[in-house]
Amino acid sequence: MSGLLNILPHRISQGLTAAYFTVTSWSIRGRSTLVQTTEMARMTVKKIPALKDNFMYLVVCNETKSAAIVDPVEPDRVLQVAKEAGVSLTKVLTTHHHWDHAGGNADLWKRYQADPSLGKLSIYGGNDERIDNLTNPVGQDDTLEIGNLKVRCISTPCHTTSHICYYIETPEDKVVFTGDTLFLAGCGRFFEGTAQQMYDALITKLSALPDDTKVYCGHEYALNNLRFASTVEPDNVDITQLLGIAKEADLEGRRAMVPSTIGQEKRTNVFMRVGEGVVQKFVGKSTPLETMQALRAAKDKF
Ligand SMILES: [Zn+2]
Repeated sequence: MSGLLNILPHRISQGLTAAYFTVTSWSIRGRSTLVQTTEMARMTVKKIPALKDNFMYLVVCNETKSAAIVDPVEPDRVLQVAKEAGVSLTKVLTTHHHWDHAGGNADLWKRYQADPSLGKLSIYGGNDERIDNLTNPVGQDDTLEIGNLKVRCISTPCHTTSHICYYIETPEDKVVFTGDTLFLAGCGRFFEGTAQQMYDALITKLSALPDDTKVYCGHEYALNNLRFASTVEPDNVDITQLLGIAKEADLEGRRAMVPSTIGQEKRTNVFMRVGEGVVQKFVGKSTPLETMQALRAAKDKF
């Protein structure tokens, strides 16, 4: 980590140095996989790599040891990490219905039914019958608790119609789990929505969060996203420097680029920069909305 921090540009490193990482590792199918732990004043986030390039996140209230899991697609690993952490895991936060995010809900639900000592499981997510075992449908500005942590739901339809991001704010720290809406230096495909909806999600809603909010996204796509970004804004120094870091990072095992911050995204994510003249010029458009549409189309072909 210290080596990585040395080469980070100052503005980007600020967000990372505030966090304290510990790393544990084990081997699955011969491949080394790592859990990164960020300990904050009142909450702890464990970033658990899953499948090929997904992330699951265990969120713990430090005071009560209550925990929630974001997108538990690999229930075995989730239960193992929760057990090792000594926490009480009783909530699932589903970002959206796609199998690589919600595909573990049914299995996890079954395990809780079979073993009452685990407690009663509640599964949150957008109101959508495609999300398995949904017990608590949520929408914009609905709130829920993880112990003493208050979670606010942010509705971001576009990638899917019922996509939800989850925002947690404490006096010291802020984090947001963005699923397949906002990625490090990118955004999700518009499978079930419009450019207007992604504009509302990225520019109206997520850009309004404090700049030091840590962004925990659903996939490790940093390298490809930054390569695209550098073709859109070749003179953006922040993008160039972050691309250099991504090239050096062990994305397969450690996946060291996440979390980002909202401030970093505003500087380096071209989808959050559709109001910038240089981004509009790249796609030959003159409004942020047309630019959002054309930029996504260009990225789809990249
Ligand atoms: Zn998805």
